[in-house]
Amino acid sequence: MPHTIEEAKSGRAACRTCKEKIEKGVLRFGEEVPNQFAEGPSYQWHHLACAAKKKPAQLEQALGAFAGDVPDRAALEQAIAEHKGKARATTLPYAEKAPTGHSRCMVCEEPIAKGELRVAVEREVDTGSFVSRGAGYLHPACAKEHAEADPDLLEKVRQNSVSLAPADLEAVAAALDGE
Ligand SMILES: [Zn+2]
Ligand SMILES: [Zn+2]
Repeated sequence: MPHTIEEAKSGRAACRTCKEKIEKGVLRFGEEVPNQFAEGPSYQWHHLACAAKKKPAQLEQALGAFAGDVPDRAALEQAIAEHKGKARATTLPYAEKAPTGHSRCMVCEEPIAKGELRVAVEREVDTGSFVSRGAGYLHPACAKEHAEADPDLLEKVRQNSVSLAPADLEAVAAALDGE
């Protein structure tokens, strides 16, 4: 079950963004979060307008799947577009357009051009005295071997790539899945 939109069943839940109560009967956005204590998904709730600012990619996903009427759908979509442009992916692994031309692919060791799609994965960096963790970058086509080592890689990349347009994400998915 992915993220969801539903009418608030009670007035008790508070919005995770603005901390105000979400009134009973209004549409709210639920971000699915892992739940270690119970079966089934657990949700963190947001007002739709708050989610458009804080969780634009996740709200877009939920809006796309929501069949009901959303009173300010057009305004929400506009807010989503605006805030998605500013979003920076922070949870590894993710895909993005390289903001600079300074990174090098971990597999083929060729530089990744500015604006080119790249996949960021966690890697261990041996500094000589200790091993730290940081992001390593890959061409989508070069990331295939990581996809083989981690069967959920594409699923995680889809969740985490908050700054990518759907068409770019599909291009990354095709490269990861490709022969
Ligand atoms: Zn709110
Ligand atoms: Zn490469």
